[in-house]
Amino acid sequence: MATHSHHTNLRDFVRMGVTIVKTADIRDAVLNAFYFTHHHLRSTRFIKSQVWYPSVNIIEMTYGCNRNCLGCYIPLEQRHDKKVIDSTILERTITESKNIGIPLFVLVGGEVMSEQMMPLLEATVRSNKDCMFVVCTNGDYIAKQGVGTLANVHNISFSVSIDGFQEEHDFIRGHGSFENTSMALDRLRDSHKAFFVSSTMRNNNDATVLSPEFNHFLKSKGVVYQGVQRFRSPNPEEEYPSEKFLNYLCHIANHRCSYPVPIIHGHISEDLLSQDTQFSYIITSMNGDIRIGKVKEEYGNMAEESLPNIIEKIRNDHRI
Ligand code: SF4
Repeated sequence: MATHSHHTNLRDFVRMGVTIVKTADIRDAVLNAFYFTHHHLRSTRFIKSQVWYPSVNIIEMTYGCNRNCLGCYIPLEQRHDKKVIDSTILERTITESKNIGIPLFVLVGGEVMSEQMMPLLEATVRSNKDCMFVVCTNGDYIAKQGVGTLANVHNISFSVSIDGFQEEHDFIRGHGSFENTSMALDRLRDSHKAFFVSSTMRNNNDATVLSPEFNHFLKSKGVVYQGVQRFRSPNPEEEYPSEKFLNYLCHIANHRCSYPVPIIHGHISEDLLSQDTQFSYIITSMNGDIRIGKVKEEYGNMAEESLPNIIEKIRNDHRI
């Protein structure tokens, strides 16, 4: 899931701006830059005002997925279910978010790019031109078909999961998946879309994922930024330790010159760093339930309540 922290310095912003202008269609570049800056300013404002307010709505579009990655948090039987989110719930969570000033939506799965998903995805992005959609994907669909009918919509960008070079990536995500992911990055660059990658750090891929070599490889693909998060698991043996993650991030911060693609960390706000930014997003589940980051239970359902009501309940939760 691609929710990345706001701790981006000016130099990283400039580097991302240069890459996006060089690689993407100018319409895609301008819209992405506008909405991401808006998100950044909005979250900063709310942190200062101390009133909780989300600036991103993460929407679960489907649990279905063609892959079987190690440690995927979606149970296998759900991944085989091709059901997609109800279009009424989807439209409602988008409209009500826009009404309260949230213009940024991250669409997650399962796998968001698939034959069964494309009609709803395209209709949603086209009918909501006044906001921005980030599509999270494993890259398999794009490797085969490119972005298809999404080529000529501009209020969109793509977050592709990549967990290392071939050896590490295929070990985690299945044989042949690195080739597809790599191909997907080429196709995104060739179709002039704005795109970035998301990497999950585990004990067996951390050195690669955060190496200058891997970062240079991403540069050669035209990636705007590399989002990283640590692997979370109920099993403490498998979970990537937050101290180790933080150490890596400090190292990178001190060696920025070796990393041409800015590295943006996600999820860490829930553990260690910026407590003040921790719940700047809401999650809309496939059934319409609204949840937030660390507190896993739902606060309300979009089919029964309005979003402002649900947000009020979140604000009144003493744990926030
Ligand atoms: S691509 Fe994502 S949703 Fe699919 S199995 Fe891998 S981790 Fe799970």
